[in-house]
Amino acid sequence: MAYAISLWTPPALVIADSKDLFPVRRIFCVGRNYVEHQKEMGGDGREQPFFFIKSAHSLVAGGGDVHYPPKTANYHYETEMVVAISRQGRRIAAKDANSYIFGCAVGLDMTRRDLQQIGKDKGRPWDFGKDFDQAAPCGTLVPAAKVGSMAKGALWLKVNGKVRQSADLADMIWSVPEQIEYLSQYYTLEPGDLIYSGTPAGVGPVQPGDELVAGIDGLGELKVRIVAPL
Ligand code: MN
Repeated sequence: MAYAISLWTPPALVIADSKDLFPVRRIFCVGRNYVEHQKEMGGDGREQPFFFIKSAHSLVAGGGDVHYPPKTANYHYETEMVVAISRQGRRIAAKDANSYIFGCAVGLDMTRRDLQQIGKDKGRPWDFGKDFDQAAPCGTLVPAAKVGSMAKGALWLKVNGKVRQSADLADMIWSVPEQIEYLSQYYTLEPGDLIYSGTPAGVGPVQPGDELVAGIDGLGELKVRIVAPL
């Protein structure tokens, strides 16, 4: 059996100290999972987080050059820890969730903030604000066997050498196990799924020429350079 068009290479992450790649199936993202970020987005800091989805197609494995996307004048970074799911599961209890984690990485949930705002204002989906070409840079996946559960640790972002985001993973409203418990009530989680676990305060716009370096203790750094639109 042949395919009528050429098969594409599955999006995949590099794994630390391994020659194997981690193929990416779906990308789930948590919204408003840090109190101070809820407030900077206009909330009161007491909201329940929620999920949205990006296509695996939007993955930028390892970072590097990212083209400024079309149809936006307010293109934002959001630095997040990314969790990779190792095996299938549904209705996973938080206490069992760590056994579904393959590893973690540093990610950027790139956002067309103006298009997201239109979605919010009109009660429409967020897809055009969140799911577009190169919207999900993600660094090297570090196996959980090496870094543990990553319940705490510093997370930061520098833009052109200036610190723009600085927080601790322990400040998440929903911990990673709680995210897995919640999400797995609605979806069968599958090996290859990623969860972007939310961003702390300090989100802001970037322009072509800007250099972003995102880091999380134990997970290394993710470097992205914003370049001219395609
Ligand atoms: Mn986000």
